[in-house]
Amino acid sequence: MGKNKRSYKAEKVIERMGKKLNRQMAGSLLACVHCGMCTDSCHYVLANEGDVTYAPAYKADQIRKLFKRHFDWTGRVIPWWVKAKSIYTDEELEELKDTIFGKCTNCRRCSLNCPMGVDYATFNRMARGLLVSVGIMPEGVAYVSKDQWEIGNQMGVLKEDYIDTLEWMSEELSEEMNDPNAIIPIDKMDANIVYSINPREVKYDPRTIADAAKIFYLAGENWTMPSECWDMTNFGLFSGDDDLGGAVARRLYEKVEELRGRKLVISECGHGYRSTRCEGQNWAAVDINFEMESSVITMLNYIKEGRIKVDKTRNTTPVTFHDSCNNARSCGLVEEPRELLSLVTTDFREMYPNRYENYCCTGGGGAMSMSEYTPRRLKSAKIKADQLKATGAEIVVTSCHNCVDGLSDLIKHYKLGMKVTQLVNLVANAVVVEEKVAVPVEKVPVPAHAPGLDGYSILVTDDEPDMVTFLSVVLQDNGATVFKAYNGDEAIELARREKIDLMTLDISMPGKSGKEVFEAFRNDPKLRSVPICIITGRPELRSLIYDRPVPPPEGYLDKPVSEKNLLSNVRRLLNLVHPKA
Ligand code: SF4
Ligand code: SF4
Repeated sequence: MGKNKRSYKAEKVIERMGKKLNRQMAGSLLACVHCGMCTDSCHYVLANEGDVTYAPAYKADQIRKLFKRHFDWTGRVIPWWVKAKSIYTDEELEELKDTIFGKCTNCRRCSLNCPMGVDYATFNRMARGLLVSVGIMPEGVAYVSKDQWEIGNQMGVLKEDYIDTLEWMSEELSEEMNDPNAIIPIDKMDANIVYSINPREVKYDPRTIADAAKIFYLAGENWTMPSECWDMTNFGLFSGDDDLGGAVARRLYEKVEELRGRKLVISECGHGYRSTRCEGQNWAAVDINFEMESSVITMLNYIKEGRIKVDKTRNTTPVTFHDSCNNARSCGLVEEPRELLSLVTTDFREMYPNRYENYCCTGGGGAMSMSEYTPRRLKSAKIKADQLKATGAEIVVTSCHNCVDGLSDLIKHYKLGMKVTQLVNLVANAVVVEEKVAVPVEKVPVPAHAPGLDGYSILVTDDEPDMVTFLSVVLQDNGATVFKAYNGDEAIELARREKIDLMTLDISMPGKSGKEVFEAFRNDPKLRSVPICIITGRPELRSLIYDRPVPPPEGYLDKPVSEKNLLSNVRRLLNLVHPKA
C-alpha cells in the first residue's frame, strides 16, 4: 500500500483518537521532555538492558508521534522538528500492538518517577482501545473480552457452575461450623453487604469464597452474593474498551441496587477494585447510591471492632507482601493490608521497594491472557523474582487474583519455591471459632449418612499408585465401582470400553498428559459428557486444562485431597444431594 493511501483501520484509529483524547491525556502527550528519568523505573527496561524499545518514553513516542501529527499544531506545521508521524498501514498498527500490549503492563511505575507528570499508562490504555476498536489485539484479549460481553464474566463461568460452587462451599461451611445456618445467602434482599468476586475464584480457587463466607458468618454479618452479575473484574480496564468497561460495571451496580444492598464489598483483586470502585462509574456514566469497599478493609474493621477474634500464632511461616499496582499506585490501598497482616501473622517481612514503588508482578494489564508475550513477561519478571528472594519469606501474600497468577508463574520459572496466598486465607486460618453456647436456632437435622455412590462407575486416572489406591479405596468404600488407569492411554481405552459416570484425572503424567487425555475426552462424541474432576499436585499447570478451546472440567481439587473433599466433589458432580431427613 502506498504511503499516501491509508488503510481503513489506520483511518479509523486516527479518527477515533480525536474522540478519545481528554485533557489529562493531552497533558501527558505534550509534557515529555525526554529527560529519561523514568527509564529505570520500568521492569521491562531493567530486564532488557540496552534495548531502547522498552524505555517508557520510547514506547510513549509511538503513540505521541501520531497525536502530534494529527492533533497538535506543532506537528502539523513542523512535523520533522517535533517527530510527528502518521500511520498508514495495518502492518504499522500491528507493530504498535506489539508495543502497547506486549511491552507495557500499564503498571504506572514510570508515572511516579516523571518530574513532568507524564502518565504513560493512561494514554497507552487509550491506544489499546483504539486498536481493539478496529479488531487489532492479542488473541487472548479478544477471547476474554468476548466472554465478558456474552457470558457476563471474563472466564466464561456458566451460571449453573457458579451457583453449584456457592452451594458446595455453603455445604462445607455448614459442616465446618457444625451449624446448618452457616450458609452463603444468595440474592438476599436488603443485606448490609453484597459480596462480589473474581471468576477465578469459582474456577480455580473456591477456597477463597469459603474463607470469606466463614469470616462473614463469624462476624455475624448480614450479607449476600448475587446469583447473576457477580463479576467485579473488568477487562475493559486492560483492553482500553470503555464500552465494555461501562457495560460490565453497570451490570454489577444495577444488581446491587436491585437487591437494595447497602454496601458492595469487592474481594481481593487489584484491577477489579480499581475498575469497580474507581473507574466504572465514569465508564458507565452513572451515579450510585451505595458504598463500595475492598474486602481487605472489611476484614480489618471486623477485627478492630471485635466482631471476629484472631490468633496470629496460627500463621507463623515467614510472609512478605506484594502490592498490586492497581490497588497501590492507582487506589492508595497500601497501609490497610499491612495492618491486617500484622494482626494475623507473626513473621512479616517487607519487600523492597514496596507500596507505591513496588514492581509489577509482570502479569498486570491483562498480560496473563496474552500468551504470545509469555517469554518476554517471564524475562522481565527477573526483577520481581529478585525482590521476592531477598525477603527470605516462604509465602508471598497479595490482594489480587491477577497477581496470584503472575507471581505463581514467575516463582515456578525462577524456582523460588514460595507459595502465594491472599489475606482472606490467612484471616480465615487465624480466626478463632468460639464454642457455641446453646444458641436457640431452629435445628435442621443433618443427615447421618450422605448418599452412597452405589451404581456409579468412576475411572481414577493417576500415575502415582498410592494416589490411585487412596482414591479407589475411598470411592469403593462408598459404594462406587472403580476402574483404575495409570496412564492416559489406559484411561481412554477403559473409558471407551466401560460405561463411566465420572473420571478423576491427574494433569502431570508420563506419556499422554492429563491435558491430552482431557482434550481427547472432550473431542470424543462418546466421552464428552463424562464429568471430569481434575486432581493435581501442580496447581500451576491448571491453565493447561482451563485454557483449552473445549468446555472446562466440571471439578477441580488440589492434592493432597481429603476424603471429605473428594466425596463432596464427586457427589456434586454426580448431582447427588444429601437425603432429606
Ligand atoms: S521522566 Fe517524564 S519527561 Fe522524562 S522521559 Fe520519562 S516521561 Fe518523559
Ligand atoms: S507503565 Fe509500567 S510497564 Fe509500562 S512503561 Fe511504565 S513502568 Fe514500564
